[in-house]
Amino acid sequence: MPELPEVEVISNFLLDKIKNKQISNVIVNNWNLRAPITKNIDDMLKGKVIRNIKRRGKYTIWNTDGSVAVIIHLGMSGKLIYADHDQMRNKHDHVVFLFSDNTSIIFNDPRRFGLVIVLNKEQETDFFSDFGIEPLTDEFSGDYLQELLKNKKVNIKSALMDNKSIVGVGNIYASESLFRARISPLRSAKNLTYRECEKLAAEIKNTLSDAIAAGGSTLKDYAQPSGSAGYFQNNFYVYGKVQKPCKICNNIITLIRQNGRSTYFCNACQN
Ligand SMILES: [Zn+2]
Repeated sequence: MPELPEVEVISNFLLDKIKNKQISNVIVNNWNLRAPITKNIDDMLKGKVIRNIKRRGKYTIWNTDGSVAVIIHLGMSGKLIYADHDQMRNKHDHVVFLFSDNTSIIFNDPRRFGLVIVLNKEQETDFFSDFGIEPLTDEFSGDYLQELLKNKKVNIKSALMDNKSIVGVGNIYASESLFRARISPLRSAKNLTYRECEKLAAEIKNTLSDAIAAGGSTLKDYAQPSGSAGYFQNNFYVYGKVQKPCKICNNIITLIRQNGRSTYFCNACQN
């Protein structure tokens, strides 16, 4: 599932490919994603020019020269493919955005947990109103994290994955950041010391930044958010490493379930 780095890489990719392009048509082949695609999407977007593309949490947002924006979430299996108009259509190509220069962006999503909607400014503000802090901003610090965690009665891994507190940190990057900070995912969130919060906030930023840097160098015409940005999965310390030795201490990596999700950690390195 795409997390913050993948969506950041994709948003940058799109910015490079479609900024200042005019939408000539939107073709919808299947209206039923996680929520229905906005009914009159074609009328709302026809003739509009893409002015900016940004990321908020795990959403990519296309601002146009009109008063509307396209909001896309890739769900579990979504891809955005850059192609010419006449590229062969594939199964699961649910939405095709056609641009006036004969290029297009195809939204392909076999499992259909993704989202493609068009919102006006007010609706956009509303949509993102209960989102947590962006972890790559300067505002997100050890102080901020400690304040955020002080009343949280859940384990630290679950706390990190709560989008209303911090956006974009999912299962992969929560596990990796906790390893880098040497903090056990079993710890109660509210019991982290100030030093630990400082270390963890820094390692969340480092882990996400490293993943973005790794992903940015691997994309061509195909934005494929298959779970980890580009080659960054080669740099995982714990995620998916069950029964493998820890890269630091050789202890065997432990796999447990927390809130129904897999958690990987080294019980020698992480306390
Ligand atoms: Zn270890």
